[in-house]
Amino acid sequence: MYYNNIQTPVLIKTGKNILNDLDSILASAHLYFPHKILVTQENLYETYHEKLDGNHFDNVIFCRGGEFAEASELIPQVQDADAVLIAFGGGSVLDIVKYVASRLNMAFITVPSALSNDAIYSSVARLTVNRKKKSFNVQLPLGVILDLAVLKTAPRALLLAGAGDLITNISAVEDWTLATEINGETSNGLAMMLSKQAALSIWNFSANDLYTDNFLSALGHGLLTSGLSMNIAGSTRACSGSEHMISHAIDEYFPDKATMHGLQVAWAFREIERQIRKNDDMLEMVEEFYDRIGLTAVISEYIPWKSEDLMMLIPYALKIRKRFTVLNTVKL
Ligand SMILES: [Zn+2]
Repeated sequence: MYYNNIQTPVLIKTGKNILNDLDSILASAHLYFPHKILVTQENLYETYHEKLDGNHFDNVIFCRGGEFAEASELIPQVQDADAVLIAFGGGSVLDIVKYVASRLNMAFITVPSALSNDAIYSSVARLTVNRKKKSFNVQLPLGVILDLAVLKTAPRALLLAGAGDLITNISAVEDWTLATEINGETSNGLAMMLSKQAALSIWNFSANDLYTDNFLSALGHGLLTSGLSMNIAGSTRACSGSEHMISHAIDEYFPDKATMHGLQVAWAFREIERQIRKNDDMLEMVEEFYDRIGLTAVISEYIPWKSEDLMMLIPYALKIRKRFTVLNTVKL
């Protein structure tokens, strides 16, 4: 018929100091598995072991995270276990667990320790191969558990990177709209709506709010909604446009000058508004938001690129993937 069937997470739980309640959270969602394996980084386990030990794990596996090569070390450790994997850590831990679980068709749940990008619920894992970040298609997590007490310990720059990844949904939706208008592509109104609403959910916050429960919940739920919008769209289109192509081009062609994904896309979004889209109202709103939330300062601290470098990066971005965006309208 004319309806879409959408895969959605079976468990979303947000709360404070819930890291020691993982067992009861799974039980109350009626999720029962013969075994449960925690995959995390050793230093994170040391920090949180008292809370984590309040749960039953059949095995605790330490990983470094982020490197594709590590998958071949992790797969033999989990492949014969009839288990759910609990991935606890930052984006690099979540991404390697997503990849390993997908390769083995195992269920997994993400418990992020930071909200630096939409890795918490997305069907893409970014892993380093030969010093360069590559994207891998992966299965979605069964659920996401957000412990606000843990997320509150994240460095400020990581939180702002998460805000950057989320706010740039606006740019991705602009690009998708353009592609439907002048390139005849099909759109998905529901995916676009969710992506944009997710971004707007953090629009009114300021730097002083970063460590509040309200902001952390909004950021976490916004990143989750972003993942859902990509799932509905069946591609990353809803949350990844020209600004992501610039960021991926930096990762691919200038890995020595690459930094956090969320900061790179935020920088690219602002420069694309300034130099290509030239929508004064949007630019004013973006600049005001960046100033108020603290992105302007953290971008100048972490991003080595100058405004004029954008044009130089465009040909590299166009090589990254065949996706029509505002970059295709630039006369080079
Ligand atoms: Zn992103």
